[in-house]
Amino acid sequence: MTAIVIVGAQWGDEGKGKVVDLAAEHADVVVRYAGGPNAGHTLVVGNDKIVVRLVPSGILQPHTQCLMGQGMVVDPAVLVSEIDALEARKIKVEGRLVIASLAHVIMPYHIVIDGLRESDTGSQKIGTTKKGIGPAYEDKVARRGIRVADLADPTRLRELVTAALGAWAPVAKALGGELPTVDAVLAHVQPFSARLLALAGDSSKLLDDAVRAKKRVLLEGAQGTLLDVDHGTYPFVTSSSAIAGGACTGAGIGPSRIHGVVGITKAYATRVGEGPFPTELFGPEGDRLRERGGEFGSVTGRPRRTGWLDLPALRYAARVNGVDGWAVTKLDVLTGLEQVQICVGYQIVDPRSNDLHGELTKDLPIGALAACKPVFKAFPGWTQAIEDARSIADLPPEAQALVKFIETETEVPAYLVSVGPRRDQTITVRDLFS
Ligand code: GDP
Repeated sequence: MTAIVIVGAQWGDEGKGKVVDLAAEHADVVVRYAGGPNAGHTLVVGNDKIVVRLVPSGILQPHTQCLMGQGMVVDPAVLVSEIDALEARKIKVEGRLVIASLAHVIMPYHIVIDGLRESDTGSQKIGTTKKGIGPAYEDKVARRGIRVADLADPTRLRELVTAALGAWAPVAKALGGELPTVDAVLAHVQPFSARLLALAGDSSKLLDDAVRAKKRVLLEGAQGTLLDVDHGTYPFVTSSSAIAGGACTGAGIGPSRIHGVVGITKAYATRVGEGPFPTELFGPEGDRLRERGGEFGSVTGRPRRTGWLDLPALRYAARVNGVDGWAVTKLDVLTGLEQVQICVGYQIVDPRSNDLHGELTKDLPIGALAACKPVFKAFPGWTQAIEDARSIADLPPEAQALVKFIETETEVPAYLVSVGPRRDQTITVRDLFS
């Protein structure tokens, strides 16, 4: 396989950073196709941690070319500070990173609107990272967005900013806030424009060249399937196409050019922000997963909601993404639990009587999660540390049984099992590019 998509199968934060970084060792090109500076992949290099929010995680591999597709929204200040931070660690960025000149730019007023909505006590709260991503996508779809290439033309940029501010003014007013002036917006963006424009190019063309040359291309998703704007737990979703299909629109590559899809799932589940999460744990069990798994947002630091693995959700992710193989991460976090639960199905609750009725469904009732009750199967836990396992056979039988159960129930094999944050703490069952 030469072009593969790596996609989050849950609500994001599945450990994509590590898996993409591992796969990037064998990739010539790494592309991010959706989202903005809310992704926050944590990369561990030796004992050092780096959080990249916009730059594709492949940047840590010195030979890879990194592309940011037009499906992304880019905050110039964040990108420049990220490039500076990477270069300060002697990771070369300039010359290896190309940003789609058609990618949209997050402007200061997008961040203001996002913040106003999230602090509003009304119904507008989604639990976003307040980075302006949603409003930037709104401007894109409303056809008044500003693209990277627009930064090159100050007169046109002023016109576009004026129009956008006019459109957002009533929204800001209704939320009791104030927008920056046109001059303030332009003054904010100006110092970053030259750096961004120097990196701008036709990333779709570069991607096509790479695929034609049979180079190994890795398309890196952001967030996860259940946060996808079309296929997630709407309206508690991100504003972009997070699923594997989003790679086509977001990176500018045809579906026939993609050869495989790897889905990433933790051995349990987490979610950030508002919205349904049927397998959520409250109390000490949830706290334990949070502490052991370090489940605190890498961008915001906020504690993540934690819960058991949801197999109907995984089957759903396998379907909408066309997952060929799983990367199961954080299996080590379950070590020491007496019992591990896995959601194997759902029962629908009758809204009138509050009774359960009907057959157990193995399909995720994506549009009716609030009216469902998860049904769990308990598995015995294990106590021995598994960080040193390098093959499935090295795992205790109970951990092997969990992996096997996931494979059988989803009808998707595990390509990789991650047993610790470090690169070497990985069981590779099958090369992701094979
Ligand atoms: P991402 O955005 O999908 O990369 O998710 P996060 O930023 O939340 O990264 C996941 C976190 O878990 C990072 O701190 C990783 O170093 C860590 N991590 C990744 N895989 C494993 C694993 O198998 N075990 C443990 N204990 N930690 C892991």
